[in-house]
Amino acid sequence: MELKFVKRDVLKEKPTDETKLGFGRIFTDYMLMMKRDGERGWYSAQIEPYGDLQLSPAALVLHYAQEVFEGMKAYKTDDGRVLMFRPWDNIKRLATSAERICMAPFDQEFVLNSLYELIKMEKDWIPTSPGTSLYIRPTYIGVDPFVGVQPAKEYLLYVILSPVGAYYASGLSPVQIYVESKYVRAVKGGTGHHKTGGNYAASLLAGEKAHEKGYDQVLWLDGKENKYVEEVGSMNIFFKIKGELVTPMLAGSILPGITRASIIELAKDMGIPVTERRISMEEIYEASLDGSLEEVFGSGTAAVVSPVGELIWEDKHIIVNGGKMGETTQKLYDTLTGIQYGRIPDKFGWTV
Ligand code: PMP
Repeated sequence: MELKFVKRDVLKEKPTDETKLGFGRIFTDYMLMMKRDGERGWYSAQIEPYGDLQLSPAALVLHYAQEVFEGMKAYKTDDGRVLMFRPWDNIKRLATSAERICMAPFDQEFVLNSLYELIKMEKDWIPTSPGTSLYIRPTYIGVDPFVGVQPAKEYLLYVILSPVGAYYASGLSPVQIYVESKYVRAVKGGTGHHKTGGNYAASLLAGEKAHEKGYDQVLWLDGKENKYVEEVGSMNIFFKIKGELVTPMLAGSILPGITRASIIELAKDMGIPVTERRISMEEIYEASLDGSLEEVFGSGTAAVVSPVGELIWEDKHIIVNGGKMGETTQKLYDTLTGIQYGRIPDKFGWTV
């Protein structure tokens, strides 16, 4: 398939004040749009003006949530280069997520190369202030105009771009986390291991309730025993206990984060032992009582690393590291963002 280009008549005005970018509100001039139907397979791919979609009100995605997506970023380096971080892993995860909900396979290499073309075209939209980036949202939806539960034959796979502000405008500040004992995000055998839109709909209510109580995010427990830690908000989670980093192992209900995988590799490289295993709230609580719980942080593309200052579990308040940012958390954040922004040589081969 050939990647076509459809020119926009008038380009949009780019934001001038990068302190006001926020997250995911502004979109660039162009998007990548690929189309598939049942007869021809993938038949069209083009970079075209960003604009609204036209869908049948009966489109499958609107009824049965046949949708998967990704979240990744492009960064501007100090010397004006554009870097992306492990984008092939995001495209691969998009493909495995799609497979889980019976969506048609796509040519990963073609999508990746088309994405590079889109980023090259839109590079002037990448903000340059510290901590800012261009957020990339690949989205894949089933659009058959048919109200019946079955996999679609017609699909749209598109990528939109949004310049985003610094996640930590005033430094990394630890968050307060509500440990959710009633609602669950995902269960083993479900779709938690994949990036399906439905997972996020399922997470909203608990998130809203936590916000109402004044907490920043929800810590998800396993759906079977309500005992073991899974994720925090839409991030993976790490604990530093007695000098060792511990993160829940991937056992079907946890999203395999690319930041998570990078932190595991990076920490090991720094000489910090890392273990992927089951970890219960009871164990965390005990460790906080005997002083061996040293640090807690979330990991994900949006924030990279998000320190946790307090966990509220039933009637217990677990204060982590005096509510302050931990040394290892800071070091991992600095190193990972250093690689992403091209300030630190990338010996892992993560950037392109
Ligand atoms: N868990 C969930 C549920 C997420 O939505 C995300 C964000 N994609 C993550 C973890 C972190 O994944 P990544 O490091 O690949 O951004």
